[in-house]
Amino acid sequence: MKKFLTLMAVFAAFLFVVAPAQAKKFVTIGTGGVTGVYYPTGGAIAKMVNQKSKEYGLKATVESTGGSVFNINAVMSGDLEFGIAQSDRQYQAYHGIAEWEGKPQKDLRAVFSIHPEAITLIASADAGIKSIKDIKGKKINLGNPGSGQLQNSKDVLEAVGLTENDVQAFYVKAVEAPGLIQDGRLDGFFYTVGHPNGNIKEATSGRIKVNIVPIEGEGIAKLIKEKPYYAVGKIDMNNYPNAANADAGTVNSIGVKATLVTSANVSDDIVYALTKEVFENFDEFKKLHPAYSVLTKEDMLQGLSAPIHPGALKYYKEAGLVKYINPELVK
Ligand code: GLU
Repeated sequence: MKKFLTLMAVFAAFLFVVAPAQAKKFVTIGTGGVTGVYYPTGGAIAKMVNQKSKEYGLKATVESTGGSVFNINAVMSGDLEFGIAQSDRQYQAYHGIAEWEGKPQKDLRAVFSIHPEAITLIASADAGIKSIKDIKGKKINLGNPGSGQLQNSKDVLEAVGLTENDVQAFYVKAVEAPGLIQDGRLDGFFYTVGHPNGNIKEATSGRIKVNIVPIEGEGIAKLIKEKPYYAVGKIDMNNYPNAANADAGTVNSIGVKATLVTSANVSDDIVYALTKEVFENFDEFKKLHPAYSVLTKEDMLQGLSAPIHPGALKYYKEAGLVKYINPELVK
């Protein structure tokens, strides 16, 4: 009996002392719709981390979500540890603009930026939409609440002197939009996304021919000048050989960047491990999606507006990359 009790005590001690030390930490990365670029991007980051899962005691998983705004809010509430978010949305959340008007998210932290995204207007050729102004009166998906694109499409409308009320506005997820265009229930949709992506391949591959409409002109040039987070962007039409305007070469647009964000409440160890694995396996990471073809390490430290998370900063210091970061974000 005594022996049994001793054994039990040893077993209990093992459970309480040894087992917790080996318990894996799970982190979830919020992404976007499955046909966008955020979803495979979350997968690519998780892959880098999970290759060293044993070493770090860390396992990353990916969740499909409504997009940038959803991800920032879920990271802030602690429901997700990481989220992918547009650079303009990161700026707005940290400074208390747009969906966060009067509620600056001061605990938001930047990790790095990823691929370029373009505000993209996809429209059925039959609807006669050749320039943004032509969307007046048409059935247009502006984006689901929680998405990055919803504010982008509102900004674009305003820049050309239109409002949400000048179009028959839809607010559905981007993943549904190609089907709705092909069913004739939508004339066009806005999607802020990296190229190429499955969503626009799907939209351009159906019976109904679709164009990628240029977002350009005086009002747009003014918008880019006014907002610090918008830049000139171009969409390479070689990505969409079945689009009605496939031979356009490139189509002008507005560019932002996809970024990875976290919260000040996520531990330094976790953020350090994730950052290190992505940067140390950079060449392997870059091969995981064609939208990353233009990436450089230096570029991945641009376009951020929240302070850099201390765990990420620790790695950037070790790797001699701090010189590429805006000093205001290094605290
Ligand atoms: N930029 C989109 C958003 O923030 C998501 C794009 C994607 O999933 O690739 O909602």
